[in-house]
Amino acid sequence: MVKLDDLGNLRRTHLSNRITDQMEGQEVVVMGRVVDVRDLGGIKFFVLHDVGGAVQVTALKTKSGEEIISKINSLTQETSVAVRGKVVKARQAPRGVEIVPSEIRILNLAQVPLPLDPMGRVKANLDTRLDARAIDLRSPQALAIFRIRNKALQASRQYLLSRGFVEVHTPKIVATATESGAALFPISYFDREAFLSQSPQLYKEVLTGALDRVFEVGPIFRAEEHDTPRHLNEAISFDIEMAYATAEDVMNTLEKMVWQAFSDVEKYCQPDLKILGHSLKVPGEHFPRITYTEAIEMVGKAGVKIPWGEDLPTPAVKKLGELVGEAYFITDWPSEIKPFYTMPKKDNPKITESFDLMYGELELASGGTRVHQPDLLVKQLREKGLNPENFESHLLSYRYGLAPHSGWGLGLDRFTMVLTGMDNVRECVLFPRDRSRLTP
Ligand code: ATP
Ligand code: MG
Repeated sequence: MVKLDDLGNLRRTHLSNRITDQMEGQEVVVMGRVVDVRDLGGIKFFVLHDVGGAVQVTALKTKSGEEIISKINSLTQETSVAVRGKVVKARQAPRGVEIVPSEIRILNLAQVPLPLDPMGRVKANLDTRLDARAIDLRSPQALAIFRIRNKALQASRQYLLSRGFVEVHTPKIVATATESGAALFPISYFDREAFLSQSPQLYKEVLTGALDRVFEVGPIFRAEEHDTPRHLNEAISFDIEMAYATAEDVMNTLEKMVWQAFSDVEKYCQPDLKILGHSLKVPGEHFPRITYTEAIEMVGKAGVKIPWGEDLPTPAVKKLGELVGEAYFITDWPSEIKPFYTMPKKDNPKITESFDLMYGELELASGGTRVHQPDLLVKQLREKGLNPENFESHLLSYRYGLAPHSGWGLGLDRFTMVLTGMDNVRECVLFPRDRSRLTP
């Protein structure tokens, strides 16, 4: 049995990537996970990985003393260690430096064998990786994905905050459906039935009456039985809603925010993009816009025929991605396939003031001008087969002067797919929830 050491008052002085050959002779303390342990006769070494990268720790059998050598002998991959030692130049080591240890603390010894190799040298399929997700997330690729996601989130937040938006949090336990009852997860709420919220839509709309411009980053729950690389049953939605604005205005906001996130990731995340082997192309500042009608004409000419009024199926959006490019808007959707709160066009109520933001074949966001007139909203609720009585508390604000407003919802997990070049959304979510996965 290997005895575990305490952290005590030892603290990290440097992350591995901060140790350079300029620091020759300096004492440092590093902490991280053991990756490779090697024994080359008189020399023992291991590679320590931390959130900065990796550094080699090398001990000479003749110089380092019994205790250090026997500790290195007991190390297994993924064991957490703290190492105090001197920086030494070493031509053969990665980055030209290594640490010669004067003290090693074994903080937690990893069992063998590992459920999977987070360094990816032994390849595991996605299901196996997700089963042991907490270990899988230790891989350099996962770290890169979640750092990029974090940068995009930070850039997006900053963009909106600097334009007067207020970040809000709306309830996730709700009494009624936003759109249709079919996609709701029911839960028991004391002696009543309630549901997990599928969208912050109704709340963010009424909040424009109070806070004017709001945004929310939060979970949405969809009980759809999808089995695709882009659908989850719990996703993170980045939503905005803006008073005194039209679809056109919020498309501009979306385009600028997305462009800012792309630019910041490109500027600050090069090492992470390199780990992922992804060469990110920042789109032009103005994304092309095509109408729904133009879109079905374009794909029709290319051999994918869609009757006007139907949603665009995968072959159609695949074709559009090829024809139109990477980031583009599809505008003016038929009323039939947009939710009840979508504003019809004045000159043709069969069409709405709405848009989807696409990236190639992937839908990233949906939005539009909303109906703010209470009578029209009640009429559209009925037309969609919904009972306005169930929306009485929502309608309150509309009956008392709620201003014209517009907004959108952007899928953060899907946006991360685009920024990282992943082709499955599960790679971009820490602990994905899909039809078959409820743990971990
Ligand atoms: P799709 O047609 O791709 O199923 P949707 O039109 O039903 O998406 P919206 O209700 O418009 O989705 O939600 C806004 C955004 O939230 C979507 O554009 C997408 O980026 C994200 N999103 C919606 N549902 C999911 C899901 N099940 N998994 C992951 N992201 C989702
Ligand atoms: Mg949509």
